[in-house]
Amino acid sequence: MLAGGCRCGAIRYEAEGEVWHHSICHCRDCQLGSGAPMVAWIGFSTANFRVTQGVPSRFSGDGKAERFFCGNCGTPLYYLNEPLLPGKVDVQTVTLDDPDALAPNHQVQVADRRAWMAHLGELPEFERFPGPAE
Ligand SMILES: [Zn+2]
Ligand SMILES: [Zn+2]
Repeated sequence: MLAGGCRCGAIRYEAEGEVWHHSICHCRDCQLGSGAPMVAWIGFSTANFRVTQGVPSRFSGDGKAERFFCGNCGTPLYYLNEPLLPGKVDVQTVTLDDPDALAPNHQVQVADRRAWMAHLGELPEFERFPGPAE
């Protein structure tokens, strides 16, 4: 059993069972849905997923894909697309209480990947921020 929720705690969910995919998506829709360059998605059967607290807000840009998020704090939470992915739900991996429980194993939609994301590992890294330690 995996549990997760939004930043403010209003929305909580649980998921279990077979993971049918676990990927990092670079598509433009995910970029705009998250305000971030990419989104990690872990897929479950809708039969094995339930919202256990609160009522998420919903946005559907094309009438098929439905993105659910917390209307209070704005955290994007999960995605349904019944025509394309019947019986499946994609959950945003980092909203799990333990975001490291399972790791994505591939990247998709790299055709939309921001050019500056392809070599992310080559950028300088800082434990927190650059500059003198306090
Ligand atoms: Zn919230
Ligand atoms: Zn995407």
